[in-house]
Amino acid sequence: LPAAGALGLRLADVGFAYPDDGEPALSGITLTLAPGERLGLVGRTGSGKTTLAKLLLRLYDPTGGTVEIGGLDLREADPESLRRRVAVVTQDVRLFAGSVRDNLTLFGTLSESRSSTRSGAGHDDDRLRAVLDGVGLGGWLAALPGGLDGEPGELSAGEAQLLAFARAFLADPGLVILDEASSRLDPATERHVEDGVRRLLDGRTGVLIAHRLSSLAHVDKIAVLERGKLVEYGRRTDL
Ligand code: ATP
Repeated sequence: LPAAGALGLRLADVGFAYPDDGEPALSGITLTLAPGERLGLVGRTGSGKTTLAKLLLRLYDPTGGTVEIGGLDLREADPESLRRRVAVVTQDVRLFAGSVRDNLTLFGTLSESRSSTRSGAGHDDDRLRAVLDGVGLGGWLAALPGGLDGEPGELSAGEAQLLAFARAFLADPGLVILDEASSRLDPATERHVEDGVRRLLDGRTGVLIAHRLSSLAHVDKIAVLERGKLVEYGRRTDL
């Protein structure tokens, strides 16, 4: 994939069925996003939103049609570059047994310097602290025993989402898939999350799985899924 800049997205007649499931989870999905555009993806539980997100990360290949990111069929994309350039931000952030530092840099695979060792990581650490500060987790880090060397422990849905933002900022992706927290966040966290979304989407292409109608105010296009099919799709201003 292109190493920098926003990545366009094109789905052409995409279908997908889980191997152990008769009903297709997605069928006939066609949509495009120009680099820098945002799509709001809505639909009831089980309509296929998460499945669509999984195809964009190439956790699965479509059983029909093609998924293109940055002009490249995902089947031809380098997995390493896909992992760097397409970020997913959810409230179910995956935490690993390890330090905050390791969790942010995915054991060094996301930062250029690849240092997850404690020695000589000072410069990196400043960057990690700045990123955590930027997403509103500065106070959380300060209170955490061990700081960057500490284990993150239990996170609230809001904190998890903020940590996922921090991870995404470090990777500098060109396409961001955002699965909005569906649970209520406290007002301060909510403000940090809104701010994080705005900054993360700035200059990047975004797919926002929206659980609140108010979130759709900032998207360019809206896609409504029902039982794996697009029942509405178009520019927000036309719908
Ligand atoms: P939610 O809002 O609850 O996250 P969703 O819109 O994201 O729902 P999906 O999770 O994509 O919906 O599910 C779409 C369909 O695929 C559902 O019928 C679901 O039961 C089925 N499905 C999802 N994951 C799997 C799986 N791993 N194996 C088999 N079927 C699955």
